[in-house]
Amino acid sequence: MKTKIIAIESLDETGLKALEEVAALIKKGETVVFPTETVYGLGANAFDPEAVKKIFIAKGRPNDNPLIVHVSEIAEVDCLVAGIPPKAKQLMDVFWPGPLTLIMEKSALIPAEVSAGLNTVGIRFPDHPIARAFIKMAGYPIAAPSANRSGRPSPTQGKHVLEDLDGRVAAIILSSDTEIGLESTVIDMTAEPPVVLRPGDVTVAELREVLGEVLVSANVTENVVPEKVLSPGMKYTHYSPKGDLVIVKGSTTEISEKINNAVSRYRGKPLSIGILASDETMGCYHEGLIISLGSQKDPREMAKNLFSRLRTFDELGVEKIYAEDIALNNETLALINRLYKAAGYTFI
Ligand code: AMP
Ligand code: MG
Repeated sequence: MKTKIIAIESLDETGLKALEEVAALIKKGETVVFPTETVYGLGANAFDPEAVKKIFIAKGRPNDNPLIVHVSEIAEVDCLVAGIPPKAKQLMDVFWPGPLTLIMEKSALIPAEVSAGLNTVGIRFPDHPIARAFIKMAGYPIAAPSANRSGRPSPTQGKHVLEDLDGRVAAIILSSDTEIGLESTVIDMTAEPPVVLRPGDVTVAELREVLGEVLVSANVTENVVPEKVLSPGMKYTHYSPKGDLVIVKGSTTEISEKINNAVSRYRGKPLSIGILASDETMGCYHEGLIISLGSQKDPREMAKNLFSRLRTFDELGVEKIYAEDIALNNETLALINRLYKAAGYTFI
């Protein structure tokens, strides 16, 4: 398929005209990649099962993995759900538009292809001017997962989208790098108290400030608590770079010793080694390809950089990547969740 590629930086006259053109493709049942504040999304008309199927094919996504439906104003939600729980309304008022997906009971308008057969649907109102204008022009809610090939790190830059989806979708809107760099926080509003299913930029503490009690799914917490880490060798293919990624645990000194020892074992071997460090610890290493995720003082910067750094290792042909572990707290939960998944929960 020939993919139409357009670059839009602002919604000036030229930008709006270009956006109109690609939004028209949605009405024709086609797929379009668009930027959001979290990561790039691969969208189609959420009411059109045939269009939605094209998303799964383009990504190579298993069809039991539901899609998030994106709207361009709160009023659009009414017809998509069986009812808006009062607590969901509270969260919309505080966090929308923004990186928060609310799971609610779906209405009959949402096809099974979107919800993967579940009776619930995830809905988000993104805070990105191009995403919002695009959804409005399309005239339909937009079902959209991240715009990567299934298993790969989510795309935070236009070039990542081109790598993964050029030739597989009708159009790609290229724009600036995404601000947040991790996918939205997902919270199940059908449960009481509500349960965070996926951590993101809206933190658990922020949700608790609004709602009081909020639980975090065991799928998230079990995998970040070291003693409860899943059986070794259990390999997920989520957010993964092509190289073999391992998380290195311990105190700062232990981590750098472990990594330096490991790297020295590869000395003289034709294997390319990468180290994912931080601004503060880069100086501890002298061999291998050393890349910083950002400053430890700024977890949001590290989160923003994670997926693009993993793809940088790929571009440079790195085969083995040692990533320093990150201290767990409210601000780092989402980053750690993605990093551990990318490593398939492999630790040394
Ligand atoms: P992606 O945007 O590619 O990260 O994919 C959307 C993700 O949202 C899915 O993988 C699920 O984790 C979550 N999600 C979407 N809809 C639902 C739902 N109805 N119930 C639970 N989780 C959902
Ligand atoms: Mg995804």
